[in-house]
Amino acid sequence: MTDYDYDLFVIGAGSGGVRASRMAAGHGARVAVAEERYLGGTCVNVGCVPKKLLVCASAVADHYREAAGFGWAAEQPAFDWARLIANKNREIERLNGIYRGLLDSAGVELVEGRAGLLDPHTVEIDGGDAGRRRVTADQVLVAVGSWPDMPPIPGIEHAISSNEAFYLERLPERFAVVGGGYIGVEFAGIFAGLGCDVTLVYRGPLFLRGFDEEIRTYLAGEMRSRGIELRFDSRVESIEETAGSGDRLRLHLDNGEAIRCGEVLYATGRRPLVTDLGLENCGVAQGELGEVLVDEYSRSNVPNIWAIGDVTDRLNLTPVAIHEAMCLSRTLYGGEPTPVDHESVATAVFSQPPLAAVGLTEEEARTRYGEVDVYRSRFRPLKLTLTDNQERTLVKLIVDRASGRVLGAHMLGADAPEIIQGLVIAVKMGATKDDFDAAMAIHPTSAEEFVTLR
Ligand code: NDP
Repeated sequence: MTDYDYDLFVIGAGSGGVRASRMAAGHGARVAVAEERYLGGTCVNVGCVPKKLLVCASAVADHYREAAGFGWAAEQPAFDWARLIANKNREIERLNGIYRGLLDSAGVELVEGRAGLLDPHTVEIDGGDAGRRRVTADQVLVAVGSWPDMPPIPGIEHAISSNEAFYLERLPERFAVVGGGYIGVEFAGIFAGLGCDVTLVYRGPLFLRGFDEEIRTYLAGEMRSRGIELRFDSRVESIEETAGSGDRLRLHLDNGEAIRCGEVLYATGRRPLVTDLGLENCGVAQGELGEVLVDEYSRSNVPNIWAIGDVTDRLNLTPVAIHEAMCLSRTLYGGEPTPVDHESVATAVFSQPPLAAVGLTEEEARTRYGEVDVYRSRFRPLKLTLTDNQERTLVKLIVDRASGRVLGAHMLGADAPEIIQGLVIAVKMGATKDDFDAAMAIHPTSAEEFVTLR
């Protein structure tokens, strides 16, 4: 117990902030969390959850196409974007309610409004019509997340970010995506599956920089064979709005060509959402993008101010923010200082087909370990053998030759995220190739390839 109004004041009720609040309250701390926008943050409202629902929606087109091979003669029914978005919105509202309930049942006070720091122990909340008020807290956690960032090129005001893509009123006939990261690749797949002509423009030679090169080369091939136009080594110099109906936009590229489209989605990264937070009132050290600089316990240079999630720009993934939240509440209130473990973080891109990975890429492993063995298998999934879908799956294990330890597991193909999730435990535990080989296969599956690689 302290003399402050709260033991912990959390700014931002996203994935990280909510988890930290609930866990801290579970340890007996008096906790409040401020939220100005939506409960559950980006992940629940304009990120992971609605994105996955849209991926599922667009994959239905494949199921209809493949059905004929299994003897089902069916016309592909019409698709209704408005109905999908309405259903998605209803589900998000349900989840918002669940988050509210979780905070409530944990005894966390939810403060609706915009919070900013006046000094390291004083927070001012602007609750709109509810007015302004000041509260004090022993510890403050900044968990405000990030926001889409777009380059300031002429005409950028005509572009949408992922935030708006989830609420488009209608599907454009032609859709363009700029950026070759998670969001660009995922939305290219979603809109192509839903019937749009999609062009993805990326400034480098191959998208998804940082992922295993062979896997992303393979994905590029699969996306092209689904009719998505990939323009690598290309930059958009300006966006022009044109009169008339149909494709209302022209993207002017650096090579002089133009791309016509009805909408352009910019997915060129995100920035920590630190504007007007009052960090400068407290002397909190920030990096180039405004990110809060923290140590391995998520503590800033101001001893009672902590930060987790995208606002720290470490590894900007929801499960990482949640892990950081759990470490933080253990450190602060569990009597067990717990540094964050950012090693072997698994990740997935919900492209079509999806990609998932844990551990090192082949390139990283060769740099760090020198001698590595690479095991791979390319195959046509059994489910597709009766269909005209020629998609192939690629699985890949990277093994340290000296110790036999599996350094990385990668997969591109149906169910890759589900399969890699199971392998994360083995890779994290330091399993060797022999351990993988000793595991019995489940036949017939795609996952069995990981234990039968020669
Ligand atoms: P990413 O950082 O993943 O990718 C940004 C892309 O935009 C890169 O291809 C980058 O190129 C390119 N880019 C950056 N600046 C410019 C510019 N000025 N002009 C042209 N291209 C540019 O960001 P996203 O927006 O895709 O996603 C944001 C974050 O959200 C990710 O970091 C990820 O952590 C998270 N996320 C995770 C998901 C998941 O787990 N499945 C799904 C969606 C988002 P270059 O490679 O050359 O730098």
